[in-house]
Amino acid sequence: MTTPIHTIIAAYRRGWSESQIALAAGVTHQAISQRVRRYERQHGPVERIERPVHRPSVKFSWHCPHCGRHEWTSRIRLSYGEQHFCSTKCCAAAKREVTDDVIESAIFMRWEGNTWTHIAKILGRPTQTLQQRIWKYLYLTRQLNRNIIESIWIAPTLNQTVPPSWRWLELDTGIYCTEHGAELGARGNRGRSAWGKRILKDSGDTIR
Ligand SMILES: [Zn+2]
Repeated sequence: MTTPIHTIIAAYRRGWSESQIALAAGVTHQAISQRVRRYERQHGPVERIERPVHRPSVKFSWHCPHCGRHEWTSRIRLSYGEQHFCSTKCCAAAKREVTDDVIESAIFMRWEGNTWTHIAKILGRPTQTLQQRIWKYLYLTRQLNRNIIESIWIAPTLNQTVPPSWRWLELDTGIYCTEHGAELGARGNRGRSAWGKRILKDSGDTIR
């Protein structure tokens, strides 16, 4: 049964929103909207009584911390930890993101004598990803040297059955840890797309 137009208009006049009327009438918001617009075309705009109770709540300026999208909103959003995101896509991307905070936590946890497996579980990122990111982070912050690497990769308190190796990281990233610090793209690199090699190419000279 269709709700008579005068009932809809009466509700609309009393300040009901189109969505509220739609809900009460059991139809879509669009259906109500169309009927109200049609009525207004024939009879002129409907004068509405404001209903203070249903005024929108305070809006605040908001940025999605992942994509930077801005809006004025009062909506509660998808959250991950303390942060809120505009979409599931941004929320998931942020979960995967390995921030400097995550990297530094991983380094500290190593210094505290934790296994990579344990750290990966706590931080919710794969071991391999963490190690790659630590490697690049140390390079970018000019801290990639033998002492630091050994302090992170060699854990004397753990019974390491396999001796720790960062060779794969050198090949993977194209950043080599030498006696004199970090070097890019040197020595028998097979990484065709190694990160360090790309920096070397882009900058035109060696970054120290
Ligand atoms: Zn976003």
